[in-house]
Amino acid sequence: MSHSFDEFRLTSFSPDTLCPRAGIGQVDGSPLEIPIVQSTTFCKGSLASTADHAYSRVSNPTNSALEEALGQLEDAPAAVSFSSGLAAETALFLALLRSGDHVVCGQAVYGGTTRLLEQVLIGLGIQATFVDATRVDAVQAAVRRRTRLVFIETPANPTLELTDIRAVAAVAHRVGALLAVDNTFLTAIIQKPLDFDADLSVYSTTKYIDGHSVALGGAVVGRDEKLLEHLRFIRKSTGGIQTPFNAWLTIQGIKTLPLRVRRQSKTAERVAYWLAEHPAVQRTCYPTLHTSQRVLSERQHIGGYHGAVVSFALRDFDEAQICLNSLRFCRLAEHVGGLETLVTHPASMTHADVSAQRRAAVGITDGLIRVSVGLEDADAIIDDLAQAIDVATGSAGKETEENACTAAR
Ligand code: PLP
Repeated sequence: MSHSFDEFRLTSFSPDTLCPRAGIGQVDGSPLEIPIVQSTTFCKGSLASTADHAYSRVSNPTNSALEEALGQLEDAPAAVSFSSGLAAETALFLALLRSGDHVVCGQAVYGGTTRLLEQVLIGLGIQATFVDATRVDAVQAAVRRRTRLVFIETPANPTLELTDIRAVAAVAHRVGALLAVDNTFLTAIIQKPLDFDADLSVYSTTKYIDGHSVALGGAVVGRDEKLLEHLRFIRKSTGGIQTPFNAWLTIQGIKTLPLRVRRQSKTAERVAYWLAEHPAVQRTCYPTLHTSQRVLSERQHIGGYHGAVVSFALRDFDEAQICLNSLRFCRLAEHVGGLETLVTHPASMTHADVSAQRRAAVGITDGLIRVSVGLEDADAIIDDLAQAIDVATGSAGKETEENACTAAR
């Protein structure tokens, strides 16, 4: 007996059930796994053909399978996929904003988002105000008559502070703006922004969704079909679609997404609490370490998981540099979400294009190190961090300033 795809959509499955089935064949005789449809164009039976796919800059069966899977994870129609997270953001901004329009953006977002708004879109007459989005009153104070979009990242990158999505959505909607949430760090396994009244979830699928550090990609998920259609139009017009091969790799990543993200999150929590106790660590950032954020993290995050990124601060650039150069096991790379533990120095890497003034305001100090916790044993990660911190601070056990995570914030 063959089942149609729609039949399955009628029932709401958990991500644990949906993810392994991403891209699988639905009808009699179809391949079990979606093939990589490596074709630029598609044959038309006649001039009047209305076949699903005509040209791969517009759509492709492999991309469509990925988009279906990403949409399902957030109870939404098929997502719109892009060649990278920044291509997704670019299309989103172009779809929603005209010259004279205004965006309110969280000040602790991926550095490339800041660069896109401040150094590229400004040239099109699009204004952006950066605010501490963890403070709803700051968002409220920043919105204007021409604000069309509020864009946030929660947890923030790389300080891991949380924003109340529902409260910020209310502020945006009051002035007729949309709220987009960059959900790259948690994915729909841990957070579903649309369930908290956000209009759009935005992804760099390059990170956890691919999960194997092999495929660049981005996606926008939303429930407004007209807006999704407009995003497809922008993508067709600007050419930012993902390659079929990368879409296929991303589908393979989705199959194990819940297992990876949950296990990496639990390990990250252990690493964070260990760092928080370390006497040479000045500050540790993890959602549940901020006592004032615990209630919000429990409300917004699913299943008691809070993500697999932890940041910690040593005293200054020199200590951070020695620490990073002394790691033997964790790899230094500009990335999160891979299987292996990766470390980054935000001030000189991901956020190098963000002004020093804004970095200081956000808490991206020169001593800050971001850790993307992988699938390895927690003890192996902790042992490596321990020896590198000791080399950097010369400190096995030396008392320094109080680790800020222990102070309520
Ligand atoms: N959003 C976040 C949170 C990111 O970390 C990144 C990249 O690091 C992006 C967006 C941009 O994604 P991409 O590198 O796929 O363009």
